[in-house]
Amino acid sequence: MNKKDAANFKKILIQKRTELLNKVNNAQKELDSSSEENVGDEIDTASQNSQKEMYFELAANDKITLDTINDAIAKVERGTFGKCECCGENITLERLKAIPWSRYCIKCQEEAERPRK
Ligand SMILES: [Zn+2]
Repeated sequence: MNKKDAANFKKILIQKRTELLNKVNNAQKELDSSSEENVGDEIDTASQNSQKEMYFELAANDKITLDTINDAIAKVERGTFGKCECCGENITLERLKAIPWSRYCIKCQEEAERPRK
């Protein structure tokens, strides 16, 4: 991958990271405010808890993506961005355009997702 492409992907990654950080922060705020309201009603508490779990799960997934994005940005800086972490082959540009924080090439990803015998 040439430097210009890598720099472009870095921009996209930083943008995505900002988006996700905002989302995680908002979910956190939502959690904080919902725990302060309507204390006492049992049904409300139950629905609040499931809502909390939903936000929590969302935030957990986003945090994993955030970590992966941070890794990808570090790889741009090291000059190893776009290489599969498993086999070291170049990840196709099409794949990176769809998911810029891909760690693996399609072959290795499919290998990893295939159910084990
Ligand atoms: Zn690979």
